Amino acid sequence: MPKILPVFIPFSGCKSKCVYCNQNIISGQKIDNLKNDVLKQIEFHFNICSDWDEISYFGGSFSCLSESTRNLLYNIAKEKGFKTLRFSTRPDCLKDEMIDEFKKNYVKTIELGVQSLSDEVLVKNNRPYSASTTIEWIDKLHTAGFNVVAQIMVGMYGENWDDFKFTVDTIAEKKVNGVRIYPTVVLNNTMLKNLYDSKEFIPLGYEDVFSRLIYAFVKFSAKGIEILRIGLQDSESLKKDIAAGLYYPAFGDMVKTLIIICYIKQFGKLSVREEDIKKLPNYKGILKKYFSDRIFSVKNEKIFSISRICRSLESGLSENNRGQLEREVVSFAKEVWGKTYDRQT
Ligand code: SF4
Repeated sequence: MPKILPVFIPFSGCKSKCVYCNQNIISGQKIDNLKNDVLKQIEFHFNICSDWDEISYFGGSFSCLSESTRNLLYNIAKEKGFKTLRFSTRPDCLKDEMIDEFKKNYVKTIELGVQSLSDEVLVKNNRPYSASTTIEWIDKLHTAGFNVVAQIMVGMYGENWDDFKFTVDTIAEKKVNGVRIYPTVVLNNTMLKNLYDSKEFIPLGYEDVFSRLIYAFVKFSAKGIEILRIGLQDSESLKKDIAAGLYYPAFGDMVKTLIIICYIKQFGKLSVREEDIKKLPNYKGILKKYFSDRIFSVKNEKIFSISRICRSLESGLSENNRGQLEREVVSFAKEVWGKTYDRQT
């Protein structure tokens, strides 16, 4: 994974506000003067570290910006010495003629805000385009030689299990280069907060969120797709402005630990090399405390890899047992881990 210098351009280019989104809270940034604010963020990061591989423009819809603003941002990246660039954008404002522009300006990776591949869910969340647009652009960007990262959400307004499963299965088949997975939280000053207050939106509970995360992680990882992040980046301001929904700074570690427990429950034991035992995901020591008698050190075992664990689990999860194993494991872990930051009502 390259070292990416993150520049946030909250809501820049966004044609409309998605119901769940408040990029000012998520990024902790506000844009008054785009050029100055971008330069300030770059300077801030260069003061921490001078060695960055890539610059990223996140938090807005890059390809929906005007051509002159896109050029301004490309030029800043070049002046600061960056040879590769990535940005996040909404699929519905990509255009064929932009492909050459992206290539000329060192764009290597495009992070597509997929969120869901259900047309109904997209519309309900104020993303007025169809899922076929997203699929079409994943294919076009791949063909043009860009890396594609898909950002998806869990438990969106109006989303059910089948919608989520379809989204995950389709993206996994597309073999994107990476995914970011965001469980839905209700942020202050969003339309979702109004829907929550009027009880039209009830966030998913612990078992549902983690069962879906396990399913998605296993599917993606089994296909060799890197999971770049689970959950929003932690910050004090974020925690202060989450009105409802499940949020943990360590979602990634928790999910990987749950996957190891699923594997042990499914196959009775886990064999790893002695030197890999301490590298196992082990959130809050749950493996050591409850499963050490089922983890065996074997000399000639292959190097531990979560992808291999996921490949072994893939066909068994959710299809054969209809989510029962994940739910049992999640319920057990919930008791052990407690309910820190669990604001579920
Ligand atoms: S989710 Fe993306 S497209 Fe929607 S409002 Fe937020 S930044 Fe804009």
